[in-house]
Amino acid sequence: MTEYAASAVAPSLSYELYPPRNDQAKSKTVDVISALAASAPDYVSVTYNGTPERRRASVELIGHLIEHTRLRPLAHLTCVGETRESLDRLVNHLVALGVRGVLALRGDKPEGAEHDAASAHGELPFARYLVELIRNVENRRSASLAAGRLAIGVAAYPTRHPESPTFRHDVEVLLAKERAGANFAITQIYFDPADYTNLVREARAAGVTIPIVPGIMPVNNERRLLRLCELSGLEPDEALRARLADASSDAERHRIGVGHAAELAQAAFDGGAPGLHLYTFNDARSPLDVVDALQLTGSGTADAREGADYGDADALSAASRLAHA
Ligand code: FAD
Repeated sequence: MTEYAASAVAPSLSYELYPPRNDQAKSKTVDVISALAASAPDYVSVTYNGTPERRRASVELIGHLIEHTRLRPLAHLTCVGETRESLDRLVNHLVALGVRGVLALRGDKPEGAEHDAASAHGELPFARYLVELIRNVENRRSASLAAGRLAIGVAAYPTRHPESPTFRHDVEVLLAKERAGANFAITQIYFDPADYTNLVREARAAGVTIPIVPGIMPVNNERRLLRLCELSGLEPDEALRARLADASSDAERHRIGVGHAAELAQAAFDGGAPGLHLYTFNDARSPLDVVDALQLTGSGTADAREGADYGDADALSAASRLAHA
């Protein structure tokens, strides 16, 4: 009988990608994926939002990861813009493709008057209901999953979610998502190391037991920092903003962004973080430099498969079987 020594569990490493917007961006995304694969991430998450075309592009990217790389995808899904039925079909479709991990989100509410229709907001009002829906699909597909489980992640907020009355309310919502069946959480970006440790402390005190992985983004220019904060409803970090504004070259801005992200990640690890999730903006260099600075390696497979071709008809045909429109 083979015996395996017990060993300390290494922190997880994961990256977030968004689907490319056109053919040119597709080939760049393939290069980014190959570069990121060298660090053996435990999984790569793919965002999901926007128009039906953008949503289909997310599923196509998942199809590419499954068919042409050895990376494990984590598919983001949102309640916004979906019905209970479309989500049910979509989860079934993703499972059939080979997806075993989903990040269940409410999604950002669409802006503008043209989105006032209830259909644009979605049938499920909160992420917790999407967690329940995914567990329901899992039960129904129990035989094809060999009675295994899907990993379900949810969002957590180191600083108050813009729609929440209080930070404490966010912690209660996180607990409700765990009770609905979530296995882990990934945080929204944050700029102060104390925000992550405070979230973990408050969540544990409230009864949350699932791993809470810090979500960190290396930000290497002031414009991106401001845009990011606008999209996520966060206050920009003034010290970081000033350093980026004062920097005299791209190389210096890059060093500032990578250094700041690495410091945040190191502080999270010092506080016992179970892993690191890097928002990449579909750029490999900054996240890989953060990983290098931390001397981190994931436990996934390091090499991408030969001959990856995002334009490959077979890869896309699997994704285009998507029943969801
Ligand atoms: P929820 O947990 O449902 O919370 C939404 C709001 O409702 C919060 O203010 C919460 O406090 C409140 N709430 C929840 N339950 C209740 C209740 N029972 N009663 C009263 N209030 C309640 N967005 C996308 O569109 N696509 C993506 O791919 C995407 N990826 C993301 C990845 C990560 C790691 C994170 C952190 C966020 C991501 N987002 C994405 C953004 C996210 O969708 C938004 O932050 C969204 O506004 C909230 O989503 P949620 O899943 O946290 O929602």
